Amino acid sequence: MDAKLLKKFEGLLLAKRKQLLESIGHYEDALMNSSLKDSIGTLSSYTNHMADLGTDAQEREKAYHFASKEGRLLYHIDEALRRMQNGTYGRCVQCGEEISLERLEAVPHARLCIKCKQREEEKKRELESSA
Ligand SMILES: [Zn+2]
Repeated sequence: MDAKLLKKFEGLLLAKRKQLLESIGHYEDALMNSSLKDSIGTLSSYTNHMADLGTDAQEREKAYHFASKEGRLLYHIDEALRRMQNGTYGRCVQCGEEISLERLEAVPHARLCIKCKQREEEKKRELESSA
């Protein structure tokens, strides 16, 4: 994908992200601040556990976010921005094919191409009908 297009989708994602953060009341920022404070407070005595502490806080944050629809969307947007940074944005995470621009216009955080998405939906339906 060329840089100009990438920039455009990045803009879409960032705008959506801001909107979501506002709708969930910047909860993420508050969480980040408090976990940062915790880390600094325990830095001197528990340096070895820093990595564990960080992971726990991240897991808790993720769990919180997944409890809401907005949170899940936010997660997918963050993932898309991460893919943008490592240069895999716009490619299907499943098969590696390029995701069509029409699909990205509609869903800028799409991680699957339309073919894999359909397959996933079918699988989900199968699971639900067999349950
Ligand atoms: Zn695919």
